Amino acid sequence: MKITVLAGGVGGARYLLGVRHWLQDSDGGDPAAQLTAIVNTADDLWLAGLRITPDLDTITYALAGVNDTTRGWGRAGDSEVVNGELAAWGVAWPWFTLGDLDIAASVARTAWLRDGVPLAEVVARLAARWDVGARLLPATGDEAETIVHLAQPTDDGRTELHFQEWWVRYRAALPAASFEVRGAAEARPSAGVLEAIAEADVVLLAPSNPVVSIGPILAIPGIREALRDTPAPVIGASPIIAGSVVRGMADACLTAIGVETSADAVARLHGSRTTGGLLDGWLVDTADADVVEGLVADGIPTRAVPLWMTDPATTARMVDAAISLAG
Ligand code: GDP
Ligand code: CA
Repeated sequence: MKITVLAGGVGGARYLLGVRHWLQDSDGGDPAAQLTAIVNTADDLWLAGLRITPDLDTITYALAGVNDTTRGWGRAGDSEVVNGELAAWGVAWPWFTLGDLDIAASVARTAWLRDGVPLAEVVARLAARWDVGARLLPATGDEAETIVHLAQPTDDGRTELHFQEWWVRYRAALPAASFEVRGAAEARPSAGVLEAIAEADVVLLAPSNPVVSIGPILAIPGIREALRDTPAPVIGASPIIAGSVVRGMADACLTAIGVETSADAVARLHGSRTTGGLLDGWLVDTADADVVEGLVADGIPTRAVPLWMTDPATTARMVDAAISLAG
């Protein structure tokens, strides 16, 4: 079975581990040939002269099994020698730590980009070091980054921040008025993205941040249309369990766009495909079973199953529920 997944960073990585596990265990197939991840690139940025791609790196390292599971980002066993040197010179951001191995990957990435290699090919070259068991495609190779427009200016009078500064430095605590994916209108999907949606047997939305991970992927012209046109069912999983974001600060993003932090409000944000939205199906956690009936009435077939992605085998059961809902 050919599966295409739309994914952000940490939630996307956990979900992809489950999809890969499902393909190996239940489908008996070769995930490397059957699993495509379309990954958010709107968190990307230039820092110290380097192109940094946090969600792509998180997913690459997690699928390669070389990620740091304690810190939750970067490579296991990494050091921070270069980061300390940069800080001593006042280069980069003191609150944005990059490990030495991360910096090496970013040097390689930047070198290839400077040679004119498309980001999708750069990602493939970086991932080729390991057996990631999936094809990773950046949503776009063009620079289209999330800018947060603030409800009130910062102390130094700024009214907008790059997503990373808002998220990492301010921990999403400065109220946001809106999000803009700057450059999205001119951006093109990476080679293979539209085909991966059109030719999939099923398209899955990871339980990633709907506003700043899934939203920016949909903002790249052509991707939303491809999802509307694909014969494949599109099935999502809720990132919200019992009114809470599970991990992270996605509630700050939902609040900013006027959407309640609940499993059914996120489903309605995506909308039913029968009325021009995205979804042919939606999974909520068993703790949210009470919203199933209302969503079904609104044209979104919904099932309640455990949605805690504790390990790949557990997550694979959630993927199995998505596949059976698709069928
Ligand atoms: P980021 O780019 O690193 O922020 O990661 P993503 O956007 O891919 O995923 C972050 C979202 O995943 C969070 O906002 C959570 O709502 C969701 N999430 C994290 N862990 C779990 C889990 O175990 N189950 C579910 N259902 N959602 C989760
Ligand atoms: Ca992210």
